[in-house]
Amino acid sequence: MAVMFERVALLGLGLIASSMALGMRRSGLAGSITGHARSAETRDVAMELGLVDAVFDSAAEAVVDADLVVFCVPVGVMGDLAAEVAPNLKPGALVTDVGSVKNAVVQAIGPHLPDNVHFIPGHPLAGTEHSGPRSGFASLFKNRWCLLTPTGETDPAALQKLTDLWLALGAKVDTMDAEHHDLVLAVTSHAPHLIAYTMVGVADDLKRVTESEVINYSAAGFRDFTRIAASDPTMWRDVFLNNKEATIEILGRFTEELFDLQRAIRRGDGQQLFDYFTRTRAIRRGIIEAGQDTDAPDFGREHE
Ligand code: NAP
Repeated sequence: MAVMFERVALLGLGLIASSMALGMRRSGLAGSITGHARSAETRDVAMELGLVDAVFDSAAEAVVDADLVVFCVPVGVMGDLAAEVAPNLKPGALVTDVGSVKNAVVQAIGPHLPDNVHFIPGHPLAGTEHSGPRSGFASLFKNRWCLLTPTGETDPAALQKLTDLWLALGAKVDTMDAEHHDLVLAVTSHAPHLIAYTMVGVADDLKRVTESEVINYSAAGFRDFTRIAASDPTMWRDVFLNNKEATIEILGRFTEELFDLQRAIRRGDGQQLFDYFTRTRAIRRGIIEAGQDTDAPDFGREHE
């Protein structure tokens, strides 16, 4: 594939940035890649793995001359980082981010940017419970959606260029407004993560069950919760602090439904439980049919 951006700057060099770097390298999408991360250790690893051609301990230096700047840091630090790099952005540069929340990111980054750059927020719906520069892989975005949240003022050519980048990384691209994005993600990602964190926390609190029993006898349901609950604490703290309204709205609905099911169990209303589980099973089928998960039993884990 042809070079799409002569110089790319990745701010943050964790799971998402390293996957983008490997994907861009694999397809020759970037002339050169510069990077910045908070710790010297992460910067060294990024160089050692060849994710970037140069690293800088200052974000402002990393963006000099970059045609594409991608904020790949936790949502809570994006504003400060934007303020730091803004004076050094190249006129005409495309600026984007990969944050899991969009409205708060627009508010945090937008005001700092000069008028002569194109800012289009983005969110690849792809990830694992691992973090850091060693956790990335080039195919992370393959067949996953990347949601972009342009506004009425977004330059169509810049939007097309960013769309083409994500397509070249293997993703499927859709656009929506930032507020709607945050509501959709509250349902599909943020509330489920909080529920998983809570369920694992409850098991931890349950002193009647010893720790080894919880671990040794972890059945599919609990085990799958623990995978989600192992996700990065900083990232997820920032997600909840920055998508308050939508998450609280969805958790309110969740609590109502939970009480309803709890009452059905107490009353012995098997029909209600059966009907509910039939409806939710259809959602799982829809996800498989959309190619967003494997149909293999037990999520494709190997069994003898
Ligand atoms: P990650 O693996 O934990 O990497 C975060 C990176 O940000 C690290 O390189 C870290 O540097 C750097 N960083 C943190 N604070 C910084 C600061 N103050 N200044 C400069 N660099 C800083 O995280 P990730 O999973 O790639 O997530 C990055 C972004 O993608 C987040 O906004 C997240 O919401 C979003 N996202 C994540 C997923 C997912 O499933 N993981 C999916 C989609 C979107 P050090 O290593 O030196 O601390």
